[in-house]
Amino acid sequence: MIKNIAAYLKELLKLLSVISAHSKDDKVIKVERTVRDFICQMRLMLIGCMKCTKKKKLPPVSYEYYRKIFDTRFNIVIGYPRSDTCSSCDKYQADVTVLQYTLSGPSLPHKEKHKLEMPTRTAQMANKVHKHKAEVFYERKRTARQRSMKNESHEAITFYFQKNLPMPKLTTNCVYYRRQLSLYSFDIHTSPRGHSVFYCYPETEGRKGSVEVTSFLHHFIFNLPNPKVKVIELFYDVCAEQNKNYTVLRFLYYDLHAARRLDHIKLTFPVCGHSHLECDRSMVLINQKYPAELPEHWVKVFETARTKPSPCHVVNVDQALLRNWTQYLTSL
Ligand SMILES: [Zn+2]
Repeated sequence: MIKNIAAYLKELLKLLSVISAHSKDDKVIKVERTVRDFICQMRLMLIGCMKCTKKKKLPPVSYEYYRKIFDTRFNIVIGYPRSDTCSSCDKYQADVTVLQYTLSGPSLPHKEKHKLEMPTRTAQMANKVHKHKAEVFYERKRTARQRSMKNESHEAITFYFQKNLPMPKLTTNCVYYRRQLSLYSFDIHTSPRGHSVFYCYPETEGRKGSVEVTSFLHHFIFNLPNPKVKVIELFYDVCAEQNKNYTVLRFLYYDLHAARRLDHIKLTFPVCGHSHLECDRSMVLINQKYPAELPEHWVKVFETARTKPSPCHVVNVDQALLRNWTQYLTSL
C-alpha cells in the first residue's frame, strides 16, 4: 500500500513545483513558490491526502504515516506548526472572536451591531499592519542572504542563547529534586553558508548577559572563516538583558571606528513574537535527551549533531574569552 500512496504523492508533487498564472495581457508567467508557501501547501496536501483516502474508501492512513513517506522517500522534511505563538496575534484572535460572537447574537439591535463593526475593522487593520511589519524582518533576512551569496565580502548572521542543558542527566528519581549544573550555549549562525558556531560553557564560567554576548561577537568577528568579510548584517532578538543594550551597541561602534575590523554593520530587529531565527534550527538537531554527565559530553553531542552543510563548530568558553566589555567601553 505504501508504494501506491508514494506514487500518488509523487504525481501531486510534480504539480506543486511551478504554478502558472495569466497576466493582464494574457502572457503566461511562471511564479515560483517561496519556501514558506511551499511548506504550508505541503501541510494542506497531507490533510487533503487523508481526506482523499477516506473518500476512496481506502484503508485509513494517519497524518504521521503520510509525513513519514515525505520525510523518507522525498527528502522533504515537514516540521510541525510552531507551538509558541505571538501574544499580540493571540490577543487579536481572542478580541475578534468575542466581537464576532456578540455580533452574531439575534437580539442585538441594528445600531449596536453597527457600533461593534468599527472595533472589529480596527483590530483587523492593526493585526494586518503587525503581520506586515513582522514579514519585513524575514524579507530583509532573505535579501541579506541573497546578497551574501553574490558577494563574499558580505555576511548575514543570526545569534541567540539556546536552551540550558542540565548535567548529570540520570534516570534515578532523586535527580528530579536536586539542583543540577547547566550548560549554556550561544549559537551564531551564518547565512547562506549555514555555519553554526556554538559557544558552550557551564554556568560556573559565566552568566548569560551582555558581557558574554559581546565577548562571543568579538571572538566571532575577529575569527571569521572568511577574512574578506567587511560588511555584516545582524539579525537578532530584542532581549534587552542580552542583545539589545548599550554594551553590544557600543561594541559594534567600537568595532567600526576603533578596531576597524568591519566597514559596515547593519542591525535588524524582529517584531516581538515573530523572531524565528536560523540558529534555533541548529538546536533542534541536538539530542537533548543524551545522558551527559560532564560538559565534554554535551560538547561531543554538539559536534556530532549534523554533517551538512558542515558540522557545528564548538568553542569551549573559559574565563580568558569572557571580558568585561561594559567597563572597558564605558571608559573610552
Ligand atoms: Zn504576531
